[in-house]
Amino acid sequence: MDDKARRLREITTKEQLTMLLNDRSENTETWLVHNSVLENLLELGTNNMREMSENEITELAQYLGTNAEQLNRPFMVDSNLICPTCSRKLTFLDFVKTAIEGDPKLHSKERIADILSGRNGNWLTIGGRKFERTVYCSNCGEGIVYRTHNYSNRNYAYA
Ligand SMILES: [Zn+2]
Repeated sequence: MDDKARRLREITTKEQLTMLLNDRSENTETWLVHNSVLENLLELGTNNMREMSENEITELAQYLGTNAEQLNRPFMVDSNLICPTCSRKLTFLDFVKTAIEGDPKLHSKERIADILSGRNGNWLTIGGRKFERTVYCSNCGEGIVYRTHNYSNRNYAYA
């Protein structure tokens, strides 16, 4: 999600959102989401999702160097994602840490904290048809390959 590489595109209607999800492009894309479509963003990917606990949100906030109160709930994550090595239940933190510390380094902590606090618009990342990624467990470092996943908070969703 490099600023320079991103083509600025915005989702402004529910119909556009549905079309983009049903007819995915080959590669993963990130879109700006207009406030009027925000409620539809919150409805995404509710199957097998669980809400992150306050302890898990605090852990995420500490990593990002911000206060847990600043982060916009609800934080939802796929409840099937459990580390096979240490049994950690993966949260937003594991995905965020992978994006910040992985290769390539995709984000800064400040930018992610801004987005999750609602200070930098609403964003949706849509997994492409060839979608496959590795997330690294923030506890033991195990790499976990996944093909489908969802995680979201009030201002950001990955679907
Ligand atoms: Zn682990």
